[in-house]
Amino acid sequence: MDDIPPILLVPDPRLRKKARTVTAADVDQVRALAPRMLAAMYAAPGIGLAAPQVGHGLRLVVMDLAREGEPRQPMVLVNPEIVAASRETAIREEGCLSLPGQYADVERPMRVKARWETLDGARREIEAEGLLAVCLQHEVDHLNGVLFTDHLSPLKRNMLLRRLAKDLKGKCRA
Ligand code: ZN
Repeated sequence: MDDIPPILLVPDPRLRKKARTVTAADVDQVRALAPRMLAAMYAAPGIGLAAPQVGHGLRLVVMDLAREGEPRQPMVLVNPEIVAASRETAIREEGCLSLPGQYADVERPMRVKARWETLDGARREIEAEGLLAVCLQHEVDHLNGVLFTDHLSPLKRNMLLRRLAKDLKGKCRA
């Protein structure tokens, strides 16, 4: 596929903008964009991708948490939001396609309730924990211009960003 959109990397300012709500007027654009985002996510490879990571300031997320070797389970989430979060937290290692090769332990609410719409406009609501809860929070963060590094201590964040800058230096990422 030659239509795979490139994934923006930190410190691209488009990753820091708050994305806007998808409306009925965006339906055609979103229907065209979602499969291209899934293709970019699978090619990376990754398990989640938010529209701002491919330069579109829309509240649109794709995810697939199927394990390697299992059939694909693509999810397209339109206007996803976290509507409730547990006080109890959990720590899990996270990475991000916009910070290739960088991983860090991130503490977040252990369980969340999330809502979104499907491409057909149906409403979905789930209570999630584990990897799904982490992924939902990570991707909704992207729609608000927040990166997982924002959840780290300043010291850890600076170490990670310095390592990323060093890794990317000299690499052609056209
Ligand atoms: Zn990410």
